[in-house]
Amino acid sequence: MSDLRNKNPEAGSSEITEKLHSRFFSDKFRDLKAYTPGEQPRVQQLIKLNTNENPWAPDPIVAERVAEEAGRLHLYSDPECTELRKILAEKLGLHPENLLMTNGSDEALNFAFMAFCDMNHPAFFPDITYGFYPVFARVNQVPFHEIPLREDWHIAPEDYYRCGGTVFLANPNAPTGLLLTLAQIEDILRANSDQVVVVDEAYVDFGGESAITLIERYENLLVTQTFSKSRSMAGLRLGFAAGSRALIRDLKTIQYSTNPYNVDRLAQAAGIACLEKDEINRSHAEKICRVREWTKEELLQRGFQATDSRANFLFVRHEKFPGSALRDQLRGKGILIRWFDLERIRDWSRISIGTREDMETLIRAVDQLLEEKDATGRD
Ligand code: PMP
Repeated sequence: MSDLRNKNPEAGSSEITEKLHSRFFSDKFRDLKAYTPGEQPRVQQLIKLNTNENPWAPDPIVAERVAEEAGRLHLYSDPECTELRKILAEKLGLHPENLLMTNGSDEALNFAFMAFCDMNHPAFFPDITYGFYPVFARVNQVPFHEIPLREDWHIAPEDYYRCGGTVFLANPNAPTGLLLTLAQIEDILRANSDQVVVVDEAYVDFGGESAITLIERYENLLVTQTFSKSRSMAGLRLGFAAGSRALIRDLKTIQYSTNPYNVDRLAQAAGIACLEKDEINRSHAEKICRVREWTKEELLQRGFQATDSRANFLFVRHEKFPGSALRDQLRGKGILIRWFDLERIRDWSRISIGTREDMETLIRAVDQLLEEKDATGRD
């Protein structure tokens, strides 16, 4: 099993794991290094480009429906999410039994680790990817193997042929933003027909093509998606898994064995309202893609390197800002971005895409930093 310490791209200093344990904490979790989410600052003036949130709030109808539903909070929610699942299934061209709604897509991913991984089915995922995968593996006590990304950080499908375990791939990948084509996903599915392949599509609406269309043909495919990014509802916690009826029944067994009411009334009401306004979500996603390309071009002109990101973030580096320097210096100018303390990407930073105004402010701040560097002659 790989050693998790200092390998989780999103890991910071997790006080939860290092200092606060009682003497009663189970030995099985002694070495567990909890996932460290990006900072959620209390001060409002900062421009938040650090956790890949959508810069726009959901359509006001979402808040209206949530307010209405609040009057029924004395009653448990529908554990089947019947109405929400029906509407979503129609949208996706699936049967409701192909869907399981979850408390954010993180929960769907955790359920997948619980349902489809064990000592005989280790988890396989890239060495640079969503930092929660190794944490899910650890907390569920399953072995995992990190497959190095190739030199330019692309995922080579042949590295995942006949893995002998459950494959987890974020598509687009995070934090690189790089996309696998559906043909490449199919390659991986065919080569692992006796194993489950989980495709995490948290960012797929920003330029990717969803593998949901392949579900009918591949009984080993599980796709997870979220309402947190392109649907502007990170604060509510709603996600889902899509797959064959059999895979979804497996996940449902996990749901009913852990938390049957995993999606609360407010989230179900908000999800339904949000889907009614999906064309607004789509137009926001398109806007984000345009602003991403504008920002990328501006950064390239200033000497940055950037990957070909198809997500709502850019992954960039500049030789004048080694290590965490860009994050620290932008923070001094009121802009939060994300840096990962991980060997291979230590000189890179992830910048979420905000509004055009946010990104213009970012570019002005970068210009100031570069001028300050020139003025002091420092490199
Ligand atoms: N997958 C990836 C690749 C992510 O970056 C995130 C967000 N941190 C998630 C899944 C989970 O998002 P959520 O639980 O908000 O749906």
